[in-house]
Amino acid sequence: MTAPAAAASSATGLAPDGPAGSERAYVTLVTNADYALGATALARSLQRTQTTADLVVLHTGGVGQAELAPLKELGCRLVRTDLLATSDAFNARHARGKLHADAPFTKGRKPAFHSPLDNFCKLRLWQLTDYAACVFIDADAIVLKNIDRLFDYPEFSAAPNVYESLSDFHRLNSGVFTARPDASTFAAMLERLDQPNVFWRRTDQTFLQDFFPDWHGLPVFDNMLQYVWFNLPELWDWASISILHFQYEKPWEKDHPRTAQLRPLIDLWQAFLTGEAIPDIATLPGPPARRET
Ligand code: UDP
Ligand code: MN
Repeated sequence: MTAPAAAASSATGLAPDGPAGSERAYVTLVTNADYALGATALARSLQRTQTTADLVVLHTGGVGQAELAPLKELGCRLVRTDLLATSDAFNARHARGKLHADAPFTKGRKPAFHSPLDNFCKLRLWQLTDYAACVFIDADAIVLKNIDRLFDYPEFSAAPNVYESLSDFHRLNSGVFTARPDASTFAAMLERLDQPNVFWRRTDQTFLQDFFPDWHGLPVFDNMLQYVWFNLPELWDWASISILHFQYEKPWEKDHPRTAQLRPLIDLWQAFLTGEAIPDIATLPGPPARRET
């Protein structure tokens, strides 16, 4: 039997649009047009760091050719794939409405185009065995300086999920991590992932913390979350930030509840999207001082 022409075709379920150009790759995931827009700003930001690593965009059939074209132009290697073949029961437990009801988000708002189930597709990074090392970066992040040193960190390295208080240091954020692709690791992950009645309340993030309990900590500046701007302004230091990550509301949403509060960060993201008037990051003004009460 021949596979449908549009579907991923290799034994792994991955269909790259060309060969690898390096032993190292930055990898992101896009399953719809919104995240493809995010990845465009990310790709431009990475290109500006003059990295020699590949830029890989894992994408599903949910993204059209028109949205992929700017990524191709920016030199990305596009790797077509499908969502993981998880069970119907797993998919029902992690469906958007069900997950939001069972594990509500109380700190921020997830956009309507965010599908929790799609997040698990990040695990396909471990199938990219053309590469010795990969650094995954969420499509809603931008890279502000060269971060090639992250390839030399061990598996599994991620920054803490800091955006509110010190207790945040106990958890990792899966928006940035270093990993080594390996088919046997991928198989072990699939085995662990889809067990009867298991619920990963923050999807791949909860899963990865469970799978790698001895995770290594990256500096907090390697995954600076946008809410630090207003919740922990004393932690903000433009000169130190390597990756800025727009967790919760996205900088390309027309209007969201934090737009006014996050205006300077949104403007910066827009500059990376268009490539126009990207400022000198280290000289940007910091957050407004926290009002003492
Ligand atoms: N993602 C995607 N489609 C989705 C949800 C997520 O492609 O429907 C990918 C995308 O790379 C995104 C990442 O998974 O950046 C994680 O989701 P998101 O960044 O929205 O989560 P947050 O950082 O707000 O926790
Ligand atoms: Mn994110």
